Formats: sequence, C-alpha cells, structure tokens
Amino acid sequence: MKRLSVKARVTLWVTGLLVLLLAAGMLYLMTASGPVSERQLEDTLRDVVADAVQSAEFDHGELDDSGLDFYRNGVSVFLYDTSGRLLAPRVNLGIQVDTLLEDQIVKTVDDGREKWMVHDQYAVQDKTAFWVRGMISLRGAHEIRRNLLLLTLVGIPVFALAAALGGYSIIRRAFQPIGRMAGTAEAITTGNDLSMRIPEDGSGDELSRLGRTVNQMLERLQQSFDRERRFTSDVSHELRTPVTVILSQCEYALSEFSGEEERAQCLSVILRQAERMSEMISQLLLLSRAENGRFQPDWEEISFSDLCEMAAQEFREIAAQSALRLDWEVPEAVMVRGDETLLIRLLNNLLQNALRYNREGGRITLRLTKESGHCTLEVADTGIGIRPENLEKIWERFYREDPARSGAGTGLGLSMVWWIAQVHGGSVRAESTPGTGSRFFVRLPII
Ligand code: ADP
Repeated sequence: MKRLSVKARVTLWVTGLLVLLLAAGMLYLMTASGPVSERQLEDTLRDVVADAVQSAEFDHGELDDSGLDFYRNGVSVFLYDTSGRLLAPRVNLGIQVDTLLEDQIVKTVDDGREKWMVHDQYAVQDKTAFWVRGMISLRGAHEIRRNLLLLTLVGIPVFALAAALGGYSIIRRAFQPIGRMAGTAEAITTGNDLSMRIPEDGSGDELSRLGRTVNQMLERLQQSFDRERRFTSDVSHELRTPVTVILSQCEYALSEFSGEEERAQCLSVILRQAERMSEMISQLLLLSRAENGRFQPDWEEISFSDLCEMAAQEFREIAAQSALRLDWEVPEAVMVRGDETLLIRLLNNLLQNALRYNREGGRITLRLTKESGHCTLEVADTGIGIRPENLEKIWERFYREDPARSGAGTGLGLSMVWWIAQVHGGSVRAESTPGTGSRFFVRLPII
C-alpha cells in the first residue's frame, strides 16, 4: 500500500486529535449538563412551593391569596383543597395537569404538548388542610441538550473540515522549499550540473536557512570539483613535457644514427627530466597529503636562526657559481616550534627562486628579525621581479609567470612555502618591482 505523504499524515493526525477533543468535550457537556440543569429546576421548584406553603393564609377556612405569588422563577403555583378542587389561582392559567396529588414527590408529567416537573406538598394552616402544587416546564433543559447535540453534529464536522483545510494549506506552503530542494538535488544528480542552486525566498525561517546552507555546500563542492579538475589537467600537462622528451631521447639513443657520445647526452637529458618528474611527484604527494589532512608534521623546538644560517651558507656557494652574492643577517636563538624538514624546504624554495629569477651579478639578501611573539624571514633579490597583477597568482599550484625562464622549476615551490607557513601558524606575502627585484616575507610564531 502506498504510504501517505507527510503533509497528509500531519493533517490527519492534527484533525483527528481535534475531532476527538471536541467530541470528548461535547460528550462531557451533554452528560453533565442534563442532571445539573434538572437538579437546578427541582431545587427552584421545591423552593417556590415551600414559599407558597408559607405564604398561603386561611381565615376560618377561607383562603387569603394576597401574599401568594402564582408564577415565580418559571414555576406556576396552584392550591387545592383536600378533595382536589382548585382553590387558586382563580384565573385559569390553562397549564394545569390532571394528575394525582402526592405529597413531597417530584415527578415528570407529560401533558401531551410538553413535559413538566411537578411537585406537590400537603399542608395545614389555621386548621385548614390544603395542597400546594408547583409546576415547571422541562422544555428549557431539553432545549439545551438538543442544542448541544445539534452543535456536536454540525459543529464538529465543520471544525474538522476547517482545521484539515487550514492545516493542510499551511503545511503544504511550509513544505514547498523542501520540494524545490529535492527538485534541484534531482536535477544535479541527473544532469551532473553543480552550478545549479536552490532558489532562496529570503524569509529567514528554518527551511530558508537550510536552503542557504545547502547552496553554500554546493558552492564549496563546485569549487573543490573545479579545483580537482584543474589540478588533474595541470598535472597531466606538466608531466607530458618531460615524458615526451624522455621518449624522444630514448628513441634517438636506440636509433642507428646515434653514437656513443650522443647516447651519453641523451641519457643526461633523460636523467634531468626524470629528476624533475620525481621532484614534482614528491611535492605533489606532500601537498595532496597535506590537503587531505593526512600529513602529520614532526613538531619540535627548532632554532630557526641555525636553519637560516645553514641554508644561507649552502646557497652562498651555489650563488657564487652564477656570479651572485648572498648576504645574510640572522640574530641568534630565534626559536620556533615546527617541522625541521618543512622549514628547510621553505628556505630552499625561497632561495632557489631568488637564485633562479635573478640577473647576472645580482644580489640575494636573507634577513631574520625577531619581534614580540613572532619572527620575520625576508628573502630579497635583485632579479626580474613579478608584475603586480600576478603577485597573488604566484602562490597557486603550477603557476609560472614565464615558463621558459622557470626552466627546471615545477611551479609548486611557492604553494609549498605558503602551505608550510600556514601549517606553522604563520603567513607569507611578497612585494616586487618588475626589473628591480622581489622580496618575500614569512612570518612565524616564536617560542
Ligand atoms: P617555479 O618552480 O616555477 O619557480 P614557484 O611556485 O616557486 O614555481 O614560483 C611560481 C612563479 O612565481 C615562478 O614561475 C615565477 O614566475 C614567480 N617567482 C617566484 N619567485 C620569484 C622571484 N624571486 N622573482 C621573480 N619571480 C618569481
């Protein structure tokens, strides 16, 4: 059997509960109101009859009815003598019932037109015995009950219908955004189009908040898919060049035209390309592990001063081979909490770039300064510089302003620097003037 929709189920439940409550209330009113109103009528009847007994006066057997009230609180009063002859009122009210006079008893009598509650009382005044009869119509009490029944039979279905229609329309309107969300999700699933968004109504209620959150989630998903797509295409593109070079070199080395010397040259080209690929793969592996949160830095207290000093000394010799001068200013005992391998990589990447993008006879300066709570490493060069519009792009993976100049570079060096600074709770920035040189600043917390 098909399950009812949530809207129908909620409406049914609420309406059913309302009908049950109303029915119980009406039932209680009907059962409680009958005896209560009849008991009230009986009390009034008894009171009025007792008053009449008190007020009736006889003088030598003659009734003096001047103090008598023959109609009070809905009760008609009649006085009879002991033989059952009507003494008063002398005017015929036309509502007498012909039934036996019985002392103290309250009974219900039907005169053919309506029902009456009748109460008789036998009394003696001034040696004259007489009967007082009180009668009150039961029509009022019965009418209340009939009206209640009518209200129950007509009111409950009308209320139930109004509740069901009102409730259903509110729930349907409340569920509309969910329907739209489901529609969008289906469209994304079938069409594979992550750029679709759930329409927002800006109402600020729970569902519109959910819609906004889902949209933000889709936005992030789309960005990450786009990033992955770009990354895969970048990686294949970057690897294609060395692989093509290796293949062509191998083919040439194996051909009949190549001699001993050419083969040796081919092998050295192949070696360089393979080294570049290997470097790229290891950097990519590290970056992707970092992104997946699978890389656990090896935290220890490190003298960043020593690391800078060592890197500067090592690079001074390499720089000298390219007729470059490297100077450094490093204060003692600048201590950081970090991963030594990563920090060495950061220094190497910055110095490597300062070397690679410098001009002949240029200078490289490494400066470490210590401030309160942090230190700043500055690597400056007198090289080709970076155009201002590209200054933000240099931190992206595979970005190279001039691939021909970058040579053996992979375009991953600065993304590694950025990530390493982040991992250490620090930050990086660059300043550059094309044709004059660049400065890279790394800010790290110290201990
Ligand atoms: P690469 O392996 O190409 O050097 P990086 O990520 O280290 O990759 O640098 C990205 C790009 O930023 C370089 O290709 C280069 O265009 C530019 N760049 C980085 N460092 C310098 C610098 N010191 N001087 C000028 N340009 C630089």
